[in-house]
Amino acid sequence: MTTRNPNQATFDETACRHILSLSGGKDSTALALYMRDRVPQLEYVFCDTEKELDETYDYLEKLEVYLGRSITRITPEVGFDDLLEQRRNFLPSPQVRWCTDYLKMKPFERFIGDDPVMMYVGIRADEPNRKGYISTKSNIRARFPFVEDGLRHHDIIRILEESQLGLPEYYKWRSRSGCFFCFYQQRREWVGLLETHPGRFQEAMKYEREDPETGELYTWVQGESLAELARPERIAQIKSDYVKRRATEITVMKDASLLSVFEKQCGEAETGCLICHL
Ligand code: SF4
Repeated sequence: MTTRNPNQATFDETACRHILSLSGGKDSTALALYMRDRVPQLEYVFCDTEKELDETYDYLEKLEVYLGRSITRITPEVGFDDLLEQRRNFLPSPQVRWCTDYLKMKPFERFIGDDPVMMYVGIRADEPNRKGYISTKSNIRARFPFVEDGLRHHDIIRILEESQLGLPEYYKWRSRSGCFFCFYQQRREWVGLLETHPGRFQEAMKYEREDPETGELYTWVQGESLAELARPERIAQIKSDYVKRRATEITVMKDASLLSVFEKQCGEAETGCLICHL
């Protein structure tokens, strides 16, 4: 098939590489399962920041078994710790998100080179406003099979259940894939990290340092250090706030699944980036 984007040159789909970039999240995983027999030549890749949760690595290994295909791991040329040092410990944030660029996008674009590529993206039909940086390279086109075929949240859950892969383990306490220290985490999810992976929480704490010149403390969570967040009384308050919010949401969304409530509270639709969190 040949497609033409009004702003771009003619693109021959039969002569390009077909690539699906996995994040370790439920939507890109469901898309991998959905596309397995539809595009047999599909290449599966995972841009590994080397700071991912253990559950993500486990989930990808299981997915390889279900797909009967291997997933290519793409790693950055310069790791997070060195990048951070180059930036004088200035942590990435939603406003200054250099990590996605250096740990995900650039390694992915290097992997592709100048090959014409059709990239498959797991945005669903029920999230019309979800946007994200895919790539600005002119040799990459994007397709959105769930949108094209009208697949919604419950379809994605069904695909994962039918494969018996289910949801990633981290969904018990966190709503999205990505680095263990990802600043898109809600406070309740930081508490989840502390309780599930205390060693990882300690690692994340160590990244929070003072700027030697200004004395400013760089923190993952705006206005609160992880040391403050980890105090027992603060944890109790975060949990209590979460329960109250959840009760309100469930009342409002009587017919929504718990998972969709969970996602709404975590602002999944509003925040995050496709390559890290889909
Ligand atoms: S998961 Fe979060 S911290 Fe990691 S690269 Fe993506 S945005 Fe940055």
